[in-house]
Amino acid sequence: MSGPSKPPLIWLNIFIFLSSFLVAALLVPWYGITNGYGVEHFIWFLVAFSFCNLSITAGYHRLWSHKTYEAHWSLRFLFAIGGAFALQNSALHWSSDHRIHHKHVDNNDKDPYSAKRGFWFSHIGWMLREYNANTYADYSNCRDLHKDKIAMWQHKYYVPLALATNFGIPIAIGLLHGDIIGMLLIVGVLRLVLSHHSTFFINSLAHIWGSQPYTDKNTARDNAVLAVFTFGEGYHNYHHIFENDYRNGIYWWQYDPTKWLIKSCSFLGLTKKLRVTPKIKIEKAKAKQALSTASRNIDQLPNASMLNEALNKEFEALMGKLADYYDLKKQVLEAKKNDLAKKYENSLLKMRYQQMKQDLAAQRRSWESMVAQYA
Ligand SMILES: [Zn+2]
Ligand SMILES: [Zn+2]
Repeated sequence: MSGPSKPPLIWLNIFIFLSSFLVAALLVPWYGITNGYGVEHFIWFLVAFSFCNLSITAGYHRLWSHKTYEAHWSLRFLFAIGGAFALQNSALHWSSDHRIHHKHVDNNDKDPYSAKRGFWFSHIGWMLREYNANTYADYSNCRDLHKDKIAMWQHKYYVPLALATNFGIPIAIGLLHGDIIGMLLIVGVLRLVLSHHSTFFINSLAHIWGSQPYTDKNTARDNAVLAVFTFGEGYHNYHHIFENDYRNGIYWWQYDPTKWLIKSCSFLGLTKKLRVTPKIKIEKAKAKQALSTASRNIDQLPNASMLNEALNKEFEALMGKLADYYDLKKQVLEAKKNDLAKKYENSLLKMRYQQMKQDLAAQRRSWESMVAQYA
């Protein structure tokens, strides 16, 4: 059947994915027709689904894989439980895979879920065979996690934790509402299947479908639709270039509940040292990407060299203004910090700053209208 080069199948994973999918597709609607579901099924589904997915996005991904902030042990404990409930292996194992994914993104030989191997492989195929049997011997790319007692505890007891949460939580809720089977189907199986595939979309769809505002050096995309189903992880193009940022959707209007959770927890003292990328770096990356797209399109035009020269001049002007503006901004912040606030109010610095702000805004407009012509 299968070619000699293909590694052996992992039957346990195949059984879990296939049986849960079949139950969700067949038994869940059948039970709904014969017995009916109440509003409590829907509410508990949402609670359990959010608990699982946020444990993966805020815990496994932004905390353990990327260290974008620090979290109180109680929060790490919740993420460890939710991650086992999500049935995505231990945080240590997950982070090890994920760090390789970032380091060798799109490299078919090294990236464990390389999107260049196609939708199916990056979505789920990579978990169905022993593709990486020898990479997990020591988790040497996660030495920092070896010092995290909760992560190591979860790794050691992952199987009992996964079984206890996946059966225990739905059964407990079922006892509460007098419908054990209904809750096992909705909070157990349907929640698991949807939580699995919404997370898997980050590795598949978020590397295929969407825009590339920050870089086209890898396949990662920004996709607002995916962000809705993935608690904000749809802004994957941004994430792959600035992986140390606790945010994926950086603008206030971008839907990133994982970011909101991490930030809210910082007000309660549960998270700290939230890392963000300096604004100037973000804007530079964006302008560079727009430059490369525009100049590629200009190359098709008859007067390419002249247009490219003008484009590059505009780009350099923008870079210069950006550097000046952020430099001045730093000085302003410094002045305020040194309790020079009152002096600052009427100072020359303030005037220069306001002027520079306007200059930069004008330069941005001019740059944006230029690249828009060749987008
Ligand atoms: Zn990542
Ligand atoms: Zn990725």
